[in-house]
Amino acid sequence: MMFGAKRISLCGSCSNARPVQSQRGSEFILCKLSQDDPDYDKYPWQPVLYCRGFAASVALPGSNPTANPSEN
Ligand code: SF4
Repeated sequence: MMFGAKRISLCGSCSNARPVQSQRGSEFILCKLSQDDPDYDKYPWQPVLYCRGFAASVALPGSNPTANPSEN
């Protein structure tokens, strides 16, 4: 998931993020972890540079999510 200026934030590539847009057209990121864990803000301040809840939604450069480490 990548959206707008949030690319520099971890939220921009996190599977726990959901982009939302206000009626005035402002963009926000809703953190889905906030629904069950009060440690997470519903709308985290951007950019987020470190987050223990980050879960990559895209493959990072140099990674192969289908590779089996035991086959190396
Ligand atoms: S878990 Fe962290 S990185 Fe992911 S959307 Fe929530 S605040 Fe952003």
